[in-house]
Amino acid sequence: MIAYFSMEVGVEARVPTYSGGLGILAGDTIRAAADMKVPMVAVTLLHRKGYFYQRLDPQGWQTEEPVAWVPDDFLMELPGRVTVQIEGRPVQIRAWVYEVTGAGGFLVLVYFLDTDLPENSEQDRRLTDYLYGGDARYRLCQEIVLGIGGVRMLRALGYRNIGRYHMNEGHASLLTLELLDEAAHNAGREGFNREDIEAVKRVCVFTTHTPVPAGHDQFPLELLDRVLGRHEVREMQDIFCADGIVNFTYLALNLSHYVNGVAKKHGEVAQEMYAHYVIDAITNGVHGATWASDKFAALFDRYIPGWRQDNFSLRSALSIPKDQIWRAHSAAKRDLINYVNREANAGMDCDVLTLGFARRVTAYKRPDLIFSDLERLREIDAIAGPMQIIFAGKAHPRDQDGKNLIHRIFEFAQNLRSEIPVAFLEHYDMDIARSMVAGVDVWLNTPQPPMEASGTSGMKAALNGVPSLSVLDGWWIEGCIEGVTGWGIGELVRDRNAPRENDATLLYDQLERTILPLYYQDRERYIEIMRHCIALNGSFFNTHRMIQQYVLKAYFE
Ligand SMILES: *Cc1c(COP(=O)(O)O)cnc(C)c1O
Repeated sequence: MIAYFSMEVGVEARVPTYSGGLGILAGDTIRAAADMKVPMVAVTLLHRKGYFYQRLDPQGWQTEEPVAWVPDDFLMELPGRVTVQIEGRPVQIRAWVYEVTGAGGFLVLVYFLDTDLPENSEQDRRLTDYLYGGDARYRLCQEIVLGIGGVRMLRALGYRNIGRYHMNEGHASLLTLELLDEAAHNAGREGFNREDIEAVKRVCVFTTHTPVPAGHDQFPLELLDRVLGRHEVREMQDIFCADGIVNFTYLALNLSHYVNGVAKKHGEVAQEMYAHYVIDAITNGVHGATWASDKFAALFDRYIPGWRQDNFSLRSALSIPKDQIWRAHSAAKRDLINYVNREANAGMDCDVLTLGFARRVTAYKRPDLIFSDLERLREIDAIAGPMQIIFAGKAHPRDQDGKNLIHRIFEFAQNLRSEIPVAFLEHYDMDIARSMVAGVDVWLNTPQPPMEASGTSGMKAALNGVPSLSVLDGWWIEGCIEGVTGWGIGELVRDRNAPRENDATLLYDQLERTILPLYYQDRERYIEIMRHCIALNGSFFNTHRMIQQYVLKAYFE
């Protein structure tokens, strides 16, 4: 049995316990495990107020509201309770369960931990309210509930034979402390020793997702000491700390026998960052049946029966007739354009080439790159063929640069409104993602390399026959076959400090010389590319392939 721990899990759009890529990946991983009958159980937090509901005012300024949702509508409450110590107080935890059913009927259970119980103090009841909300102390308390409380809850629920604990990012790494305590306790010892550390390492695996050393999970030793109340961690600084600061990425690295990055390039970047550890790579994927639009799912059902159980079989998309591909795409596009026109009064046209860009809005993702030279953009639109652009994405509440970027995109949209319709959809979530990745003609991605660990939305687009136009970073280094599955922006560069001021020019060149002429003048070849997206990338960049690699390299090795 594999125990999969993640601070966020996207089980479905109406359960807002995810913020973005990490949680969606967790959900897609669990759904693939259920399809492939991999014995797995997942643990996360309930997040009663969600991440946040995004509102955008007419100038594009973001404000955040709590997301109201009713756990009873989706989850089943369990009667058991476990306790963790926080700042010397016992905090009671309960669990809610969500069932994920695989394509063949196999079940994977997801446990959502919740401290909102009358036995707890008012402040402790709020600990499982906000995903990534609050200060360092709040975050640390949540990680105690997830890691330590999570292992205790699994024990209380009767899980004894867990062969692997998989930490999806470092937020859950306190689970290792609980396993160390169990090992010492089982050996009849007071505290754990080096032998226990080796034993825990044998059952733990860790997936890192950040390509920058300054990750989020760092705390002053004093805070850990006070909140966790475990003075012996001071003596264990070599496993908890980096440079005298508690760092849960290092805790996970030190207590795992297998560590991986989430794309080949990211594995290399992580290996450079953590030179004293061995870092492998397993490239992310997306869950086929979750991300294929209704139109494409129906098409696959007709031409590739069994694709839901076996995403690899999407390779035979090459034999789906082109007119069927185009018909499914046009229907998905019509749905999206109607939605955008209704929501944003965008005046978009189904016959116009539509670019899509949706992800967390933050500086390194450069969502404004396409607006670097408005005159050039207008010229391309006038000469090579008309364009329209759909954006979506949330900025983290404390990311002022990200919020400024959304506002800037609104200004660009205003500036271009008589030539190039630009819309920014409010409150990006799984439903909007699902309709955007299927309904646009080109999926755009312009991060600053090597910051994109993997990226998954382009994989969702590929599954729906939508090619990417993207900087060569993350998964796209593996997925891009120029002119066959989409297009690159710029050369692949190894030096992370290499200047990238040419990216906008290269992006414009691709639109003007290649993509727009192909779209408007050689539709047959455009559809050929769409088919290759499904056959070459949809069949590979999925969580069926990914979970098999985890099984071989991390779970049963
Ligand atoms: C897929 C998805 C993401 C992650 O997309 P990236 O390309 O990895 O940034 C974020 N949010 C939602 C709602 C998604 O569906």
